[in-house]
Amino acid sequence: MNTEAIQYYENYTPVADVMVIATCIVFAVLIYNAYINKTKTFLYLKFIIGTLAVASVSNMLYHIAMNYIGSVPNFFIYFTRAMYFIGLFTDLWLYVLYAKEVMGLDKKSGRPYFYIAAAGWFTILFFETVGTALHIGFYIDKDYVVHREPNYVFSVGYAFFIILILVMVFLNRKHFIKQVIISIGETVSVSILIMFIQQLHNQFSFTTATFLLPIYGLLYHIHSNPYDIETGTVSEQAFIDLVDVAKSKHQEYYFLSMYMQDFEGKGRKYPRDIQRAVRYFSTRFFKAATIFQISGGHMIMVADIKLNPGYKEQSQWMLDEFLKVYPKYRIDYKIVFFGMDDRIADGNDYISFVRYIHDAIPQNTIVKAQKREFDEYFRNKYIVGELQDIVEKNDYEDSRVLVYCQPVYSIKTGKFDTAEALMRLVLPETGMVYPDVFIPIAERKHCISMLTKIILYKTCKEIKKLLDEGYNVKRISVNFSVYDMREDSFCETIESIIGKADIPFEKVAIELTESQNEQDFELIKTRINELKGSGIKFYLDDFGTGYSNFERIMELPFDIVKFDRSLVIASGNDERYRTMVSNLARMFRDVHYSVLYEGIENDDDERRCIDMSARYLQGYKYSRPIPIEKLTDYFEKIG
Ligand code: C2E
Ligand code: CA
Ligand code: CA
Repeated sequence: MNTEAIQYYENYTPVADVMVIATCIVFAVLIYNAYINKTKTFLYLKFIIGTLAVASVSNMLYHIAMNYIGSVPNFFIYFTRAMYFIGLFTDLWLYVLYAKEVMGLDKKSGRPYFYIAAAGWFTILFFETVGTALHIGFYIDKDYVVHREPNYVFSVGYAFFIILILVMVFLNRKHFIKQVIISIGETVSVSILIMFIQQLHNQFSFTTATFLLPIYGLLYHIHSNPYDIETGTVSEQAFIDLVDVAKSKHQEYYFLSMYMQDFEGKGRKYPRDIQRAVRYFSTRFFKAATIFQISGGHMIMVADIKLNPGYKEQSQWMLDEFLKVYPKYRIDYKIVFFGMDDRIADGNDYISFVRYIHDAIPQNTIVKAQKREFDEYFRNKYIVGELQDIVEKNDYEDSRVLVYCQPVYSIKTGKFDTAEALMRLVLPETGMVYPDVFIPIAERKHCISMLTKIILYKTCKEIKKLLDEGYNVKRISVNFSVYDMREDSFCETIESIIGKADIPFEKVAIELTESQNEQDFELIKTRINELKGSGIKFYLDDFGTGYSNFERIMELPFDIVKFDRSLVIASGNDERYRTMVSNLARMFRDVHYSVLYEGIENDDDERRCIDMSARYLQGYKYSRPIPIEKLTDYFEKIG
C-alpha cells in the first residue's frame, strides 16, 4: 500500500460528507412534503442540492478508492475526483444564477454574471484537466504514487466564486432586503471560517459541508412558507406562486374560495371548531388539496385536477356536507367555485376575480363561476381601466363621457324648459355603457368625481350654446353622488366650472339622493347651504325609495322633490298608496317644495300625477334620454 495514500486517508474522514448527503436527503423529503415557495428560483435550489449530493458521494468514493490505490483502476479515481470538482463548481455557478434570479436582474444586467461564472467554471476545470494530463497537477504515476503539487486550482476557484457572489450582492444590494444581505454575509463568513480552520489542520473533509450553509439560508429566507399551524393554511404569496408555476407547467387546478366576513381584518382568529372544520374539509374530499389564507376571512382551496379527476362530484359532496354542518356555526359565508381561465394573468388576477364575485353576491350564497362570470369580470376590469384612464387624462372634453338629457315637462308653463343630464360612457371595446353598470364601479374605484366634473362641464357648455342660440332654458339638473360631496374642494370646483362657462348659476341644478348616514346628512346640509346663495338649485332625487324621513328632508333647503317612479306605479295599482302619495305631494307643495314625478310612461300616469300636486313631469311618455344637443327639438326658441 502506498504511504502517500495512507497519509491522505488520515486527513479525510467521511463524517462530513455523510452528514452532507444525509442533510440533502432531509431537504429532499422536506421539499417534497412541506409547502415550500416554489418560484422559478426553486428549480435552481433543487439543482444546487442535487449537485451537492453528487459532489459528496463522489468525494467519499474518491477517498475510499485512494485507500485501495493500485487495486482499483486509476480511471475510477480520476473520475470520482472529476465528479467532485464538477459537482462543487457547478454548485457555485448555480448560486450565481440563483442570486441573479432572486435579485430580479433583467436579461441585460444579469447576463454578465452568467458569463463570468461560466468562464470561471470552464477555466477551473480546464486547468485541473490540463494539470492532470501534463502531469503538473494531480496525477498518479506508474508506481501508484499520487502527485498533487502545486494544488492551488481548487482554492483559487473557490475564492473566485465567493468573491464574484459577494461583488454581485454588493453591487445589487438595493435588490435585497437587509435581512437577506445579513444572512448571505453570515453564511459566506462561516463557510470561509470553516475552510480556514480546515486548512490549519491540513484537513479536506469539510469542504462540501460549507456548501450546505447557504442552502439553509435560502430555504429559510426565500422559500419558507410558514403554515398556519391551526388551520393548515399557507399564505397569499404562496397562492400567487402556485398559479405562476401552474401556468408555466400547464397544470390544471380547481379552486374553492370561501369568504367569511366575521373574520375580516388582520389578526382575527378563527374559533377552534372552525379551524378543525377547515382542516377536515381540506383533507376529506380532495386529494392533496392546499388551503391558502388570502386575507382575514378569505381562504382559497386549490385541488390538482389530475389528482382529482372527479372534482365536480367531489365538490358537490363537499357542499352537501358543508350545508349539513353549517347550521352548527351560523356564520355568514360566500362560496365560489371556479376553474382556471386562460385570460387570467396570474394569482393576483384570480384573487381580484374572486373578490369581484364576492362583492357581487349576497351573504350565504354559493356560486359556481363559469365563463359568464369571467366575462363579466373582464368587462368590469376593462371599465375600471377606462375609468382610471379618464381620471388620469383629466380632460373635461373626454369624448368617452357623453351627456344625454331627458327633457322635463313643466305643467305651469306647458312647455319643456328644464331637463335632467344623464351620463353615458362610450368605450372602444364595449360601445355604450349605462350608468347602472358604471356608476357603482366608479364610486367603488373613486373615479366618480372626475366623471361628475366632466358632465357638469359639458352640460354648462351646452347650456351656454343653447342660450346663445336663443333657446328658453330654465335649467338643467346634474346628478351628484355622495362621494362628490365628500370632496373638500366641492364648492370651489362647481363654482369654477359654472363660472368659466359664463352662464348664470341658476341655470344649473344638482340632484342628490337621501343619505342614511348621519355624517353624510350633515355634510349635504353644509354643502347646500354653502352653494344656495350662488343661485344653484337643488333637487332631492329618488324620493320614496328606501329610507325617507320627512322631518329630516325638511331640514334641507331643496327646491324640487323628485318622486320616484315606484311611487307613480304604486299609486296606479293601489288606492291606499294613491292616497298616501297624494298627501305627501300636497304636504311638500304646501311647504314650497315643487314636486316632480319621474317615470311617466302613459296618459294614465300623467293624469294621475297632475291630480297629485305635480309641478313637473318626466318620463318616456315625453322623451327617452337623448343626446344633449337634441334638446333643441324640445326647448322653445325665443330669441
Ligand atoms: P335617476 O337619476 O333616477 O335617473 C332616471 C333614470 O330613469 C334614467 O336612467 C332614465 O333613463 C330612467 N327613466 C326616465 N324615464 C323613465 C320612464 O318613463 N320609465 C322608466 N322605466 N325609466 C325611466 P339612466 O339614464 O339609466 O340612469 C340611471 C341612474 O344612474 C340614474 O337614476 C342616476 O342615479 C344614475 N346616473 C345617471 N347619470 C348620472 C350622473 O351623471 N352622475 C351620477 N352620479 N349618477 C348618474
Ligand atoms: Ca336623477
Ligand atoms: Ca331618480
